Amino acid sequence: YNLDHFVIPDHYQDDVKSILIPHGLIMDRIAKLAQIITSEYDNERITVCCVLKGGHQFFSDLINYMKKALNKQGKTLPMTLDFVRVKSYENDQSTGDVRISWTEKELKELKGKNLLLVEDIIDTGNTMKKLLATLEKYELKSLKVASLLLKKTPLSCGYVPDYVGFAVPDLFVVGYCLDYNDIFRDLDHICAISDVGKEKYSV
Ligand code: 5GP
Ligand code: MG
Ligand code: MG
Repeated sequence: YNLDHFVIPDHYQDDVKSILIPHGLIMDRIAKLAQIITSEYDNERITVCCVLKGGHQFFSDLINYMKKALNKQGKTLPMTLDFVRVKSYENDQSTGDVRISWTEKELKELKGKNLLLVEDIIDTGNTMKKLLATLEKYELKSLKVASLLLKKTPLSCGYVPDYVGFAVPDLFVVGYCLDYNDIFRDLDHICAISDVGKEKYSV
């Protein structure tokens, strides 16, 4: 989409190249995902776990739409909200070393639970594979993954999440809480970063 057709904060005018998914479209898609997800769970409590930091906005909008969908469906689905911090990226490159904040105690507490992980984007899939491998021996009752974005990249390890909002091209995307060195989380639309932006905020 043309940058002039949507509101971009002044401080990011030169830093994004194009708008890939406008905010309104993101919200419409999440409303539908929420309908699908709530319809696929029984009335048993689920633990919805946000993969921080990038997943925060998707998580919070998804929870809200799930509550609305449940109301409409006349269904009760108690939700426990949880958070895990995962970090691997510097600039637009994975550092290869995926750090996960779960402690042994937190992992043990997941036993017998229905866990839904909420992630911002699957790129190579290595981060999610590592998360899933970490959870393997903790005897969860069920485990599903919702990712707002799935990147179409030849570097994909083949992992595909249970729920996907949008497929995106093989570009570094920012906005809607997705960051470049912690910048751009306050941009509403999902955008492709420009060379100027990359240069300005590289570390
Ligand atoms: P993967 O391990 O699948 O290659 O990458 C997963 C993580 O890397 C995502 O959770 C996200 O934090 C980060 N990441 C991968 N691609 C992008 C991107 O295009 N933009 C942003 N902002 N983060 C990305
Ligand atoms: Mg992430
Ligand atoms: Mg990041």
